[in-house]
Amino acid sequence: MSTAAAYALPSADGSFEKVAIERRALGPDDVAIDIKFAGICHSDIHTARDEWGGARYPCVPGHEIAGIVSAVGSSVRKYQVGDRVGVGCLVNSCGKCAPCLAGEEQYCAKGATWTYNNPVPEDVQPGGYTMGGYSTHIVVDEKFVVGIPEGIGLDVAAPLLCAGITLYSPLRHWGAGPGKKVAIIGMGGLGHVGVKIAAALGAEVTVLSQSLRKRDDGLRMGATNYYATSDKETFRRLRGEFDLIINTVSADLPIDNYLRLLALDGTLVILGLPEKPMSVTGRNLAGFRRSLSGSMIGGLAQTQEMLNFCAAHGIGAEIELISADDIDAAYDRVVASDVQYRFVIDTASI
Ligand code: NAP
Ligand code: ZN
Ligand code: ZN
Repeated sequence: MSTAAAYALPSADGSFEKVAIERRALGPDDVAIDIKFAGICHSDIHTARDEWGGARYPCVPGHEIAGIVSAVGSSVRKYQVGDRVGVGCLVNSCGKCAPCLAGEEQYCAKGATWTYNNPVPEDVQPGGYTMGGYSTHIVVDEKFVVGIPEGIGLDVAAPLLCAGITLYSPLRHWGAGPGKKVAIIGMGGLGHVGVKIAAALGAEVTVLSQSLRKRDDGLRMGATNYYATSDKETFRRLRGEFDLIINTVSADLPIDNYLRLLALDGTLVILGLPEKPMSVTGRNLAGFRRSLSGSMIGGLAQTQEMLNFCAAHGIGAEIELISADDIDAAYDRVVASDVQYRFVIDTASI
């Protein structure tokens, strides 16, 4: 076992504090990683502030992890000391069920093991539940480690481990590309990476944001159009317009208003995970044979594919680098939609 320094929330309404945590001893298939950067995903906030229920404390979030391999187990073949690597939202799965065999480990029928706050045996994570990337190092099975290509900085790569794959996977699944009109709702951590990836895939991209405040950035990142959802005219003008709409919003939305923006056979994909259920009016689905769906991150092979795609297209997240002492303030700013466009913790400050 080894001791890592980490930042943990002691309770749902507490403030982050520095703690010491144990990491398991390196097993034969394990990779030890010196964490350099950890992104702050809105899911960290939902979890740590117990908005989804079932949080465990002290809670060490962080599933956008980028770092350098510091040691490898005796059976590890894919990585060696010094490699640039990343860890995303999951650190294990059964490996035998149909989703796992299809490379969709995030949908493991037995339940994937999430990078933080997931119950595990003591020999997997001392303390009995996983602890994430707001820490100095982590030990992960090599199957759940991806390589970060040269050409993307580790700091701007970190958010790709969740935000990047969460957008890349549905954009590929629903065929975003030339001739397709794609709208992204919410220009936050997920949304801004989605704009870049969808544009690089060749789709015509529209951002639907609460205001026009971030319009210049959206257009610079590859959007062709940018509309404010606070303006009722937006919903009249764009009726029946899109083949694919991706909802990245962390709060409740009037989904019916957005369904009406889909063209014939269009799909609205839910990525944002607010706590309350949503309601949908049947005729907005039936009318244009529209679909309402959802998507959760992506499998390991596709995560590597996404990183390679982003490196080839010069795509990284746009980040505000912070020290670990600023996590509480960063959380408040994310909740207020005041982030451009992902906070990343420089773990040297831990
Ligand atoms: P984020 O950085 O806070 O971005 C969310 C964006 O939604 C904001 O920037 C804002 O964009 C918009 N928004 C916020 N409150 C709103 C409101 N009341 N009404 C309308 N729009 C609002 O969050 P994130 O890290 O991108 O995560 C977004 C959501 O996705 C979270 O719920 C998170 O848990 C979830 N998530 C899901 C997956 C998955 O696999 N499905 C993976 C990661 C995260 P504008 O300022 O442009 O309006
Ligand atoms: Zn996330
Ligand atoms: Zn499985």
